[in-house]
Amino acid sequence: MTARLHAPTDPNAALDTLAGWLAEARHIAVLTGAGMSTESGIPDFRSYQGRYTQNASLAEVLSIDYFQHNPADFWQAFKEIFELKLVGNKQPNAGHRFLAWLETQGKTVSVLTQNIDGLHQCAGSREVVEVHGTLQRAVCPACGRMHDLAHVLASPLPRCLSCCTPLKPDVVLYGEAVSQFEAALLKVLDADVLLVLGSSLEVGPVNLLPLEAHQHGIDCALINLDPTRLDRCFDLVFRAPIGQTAQALQARLESRA
Ligand code: NAD
Repeated sequence: MTARLHAPTDPNAALDTLAGWLAEARHIAVLTGAGMSTESGIPDFRSYQGRYTQNASLAEVLSIDYFQHNPADFWQAFKEIFELKLVGNKQPNAGHRFLAWLETQGKTVSVLTQNIDGLHQCAGSREVVEVHGTLQRAVCPACGRMHDLAHVLASPLPRCLSCCTPLKPDVVLYGEAVSQFEAALLKVLDADVLLVLGSSLEVGPVNLLPLEAHQHGIDCALINLDPTRLDRCFDLVFRAPIGQTAQALQARLESRA
């Protein structure tokens, strides 16, 4: 395990170290959160201007309990919070593109994302585990039929085309199990490096992934504007914007090639 280096004590040395890990890694696991997409114009939940701080009841509104009791109110709020009409207008940013670029350099890159915006796939990442689901689909809780975003947008309360039951977004709501957690954990434990980008690490069980990586001696780096309660699990911590840091890393990797 590499010695703990915390930016900004010596950010250039920390960047050199991380670039070295990435250059040597066969398999890189990347856990991303809402901070990954703020540079694409999608607000996060917990940073200063994030929506969570403006509306303390967000976790209640985005819960399975609220959906089951008030599907019409739930859908109205869900569409507003995630600006569903605008989903197709958002573009990947330099951070998303960097992860896709790493694959072109012969790396296996497992993107484990808490995001539901689909921007990693838009950027070209091929192996993406959407641990909290996706905005692109809605599922019928009664018969399991999937429906696309166009159908969801067509009416205020989208219903199943087979059985007319109100649809649920194909996302993990607060109070629901994270069925993809095991798959994500297996990717992390197989990796040489874990990179965590733009997550407060407040949401479980996904926030166990860096703890597991740390306990298994996997090199761990965090790029996040705000401190997290799990900073101690990381060998490198960058308190910096993802896009700028990704570009600095790419320049270092290109100069090694
Ligand atoms: P979070 O909102 O709790 O935390 C985001 C973190 O990202 C913050 O600590 C902030 O400091 C950091 N950050 C913001 N912009 C950054 C930048 N440019 N560079 C570096 N760091 C930056 O996000 P979370 O941990 O992912 O948890 C929120 C939950 O809400 C997740 O489950 C996620 O599914 C969901 N969510 C998703 C989206 C999306 O799909 N884009 C958006 C909002 C919320």
